[in-house]
Amino acid sequence: MKAIAIVPGTTDVSLIDVQEPQLSAPDEVKIRMWQVGICGTDREEVSGGRADAPEGQQKLIIGHEMFGQVVEVGSAVTKVKEGDFGVFMVRRGCNQCEACRNGRSDMCFTGNYTERGIKGADGYQAEFVVDKEQYLVKVLPELKNIGVLTEPMSVAAKAIDESLIIQQARFRDFDKTENWLQGKKALIAGIGPIGLMAAFALRLRGAEVIGMDIVDENTLRPSILKQLGGKYLDGRKTKTTDIDEVCGEADFIFEATGIAKLQIQLLDALAINGIYVATGIPAGDRPISVEAATVMQQLVLKNQVLLGSVNASIHHYEMAVGDLAASLEKWPDAINAIITEKVPFKDFDRALHQHNEDEIKVVVEWQ
Ligand SMILES: [Zn+2]
Ligand SMILES: [Zn+2]
Repeated sequence: MKAIAIVPGTTDVSLIDVQEPQLSAPDEVKIRMWQVGICGTDREEVSGGRADAPEGQQKLIIGHEMFGQVVEVGSAVTKVKEGDFGVFMVRRGCNQCEACRNGRSDMCFTGNYTERGIKGADGYQAEFVVDKEQYLVKVLPELKNIGVLTEPMSVAAKAIDESLIIQQARFRDFDKTENWLQGKKALIAGIGPIGLMAAFALRLRGAEVIGMDIVDENTLRPSILKQLGGKYLDGRKTKTTDIDEVCGEADFIFEATGIAKLQIQLLDALAINGIYVATGIPAGDRPISVEAATVMQQLVLKNQVLLGSVNASIHHYEMAVGDLAASLEKWPDAINAIITEKVPFKDFDRALHQHNEDEIKVVVEWQ
């Protein structure tokens, strides 16, 4: 079968022929690939950045945002049958820590996990893939056009779910509402694919959403935000330290920019008892100067939480499928507009290297 592979640490990326994977245990599922999304991680990998081939291999098959159809199941599989749709998770546990032994490799303590398509395990940019049922989430056929968004949505779902759990625990004496986000002001910094997924999830939970970015207001991403009833804030026109004056302080901040300086400055917009979850991963080593005393003073005096969140558990993938289904029902045009380009696998080079201005999510087609 065909697959897209890189030589980690180089810019070498090619379409290769590899042996088609076969079921080798009763709890395995074989999937024919439909689509695999491309994100910043893939583009970093093909430009020689962070990626590791499986042990003993020179090449790594890339791709971690998959969606496909079940073609074969082992005798012990109960979750899906032939013809069903599904998504395999990205991370596989280290088998050494408490988190991984309890199915929470997203919270791995040792860092010795593997990630399909990224770290030590082949990914999903291939015609077929086999893995264990425990890593599979079933996707309803109604979602077949957007099922490839399950992985990015799972990242937003985890960040929001953790924030809700923390707030419920902190306010248990006087605010017993299960959905703390209802009616709260949520600021999303960076409305790329993850930020927009967060916008859908937050609107579904009743939050007032303000999305900030540095693109023109009449372009695609702000228009999707507005279709959900969100407001757009042009970060080129409003200083980060003035956001609270323009929009009011945010009870919840969802950060998806990966710009370290902005990540710190955003704390200024956080309300009393607010929670701020960062999902962007900054790079580089340029120092920035911070009024550390002011930042820490505010964090303490305002009872604020600053939280980092990465990856997702199977439970968050299931939440993501639910959020995609609810989004499709409420805002079908908006959710369908997230996939801006579908590229046949033979044109992988274009999908990985060309950037179009109104691009949100580019997917590689394998059918
Ligand atoms: Zn990704
Ligand atoms: Zn672990």
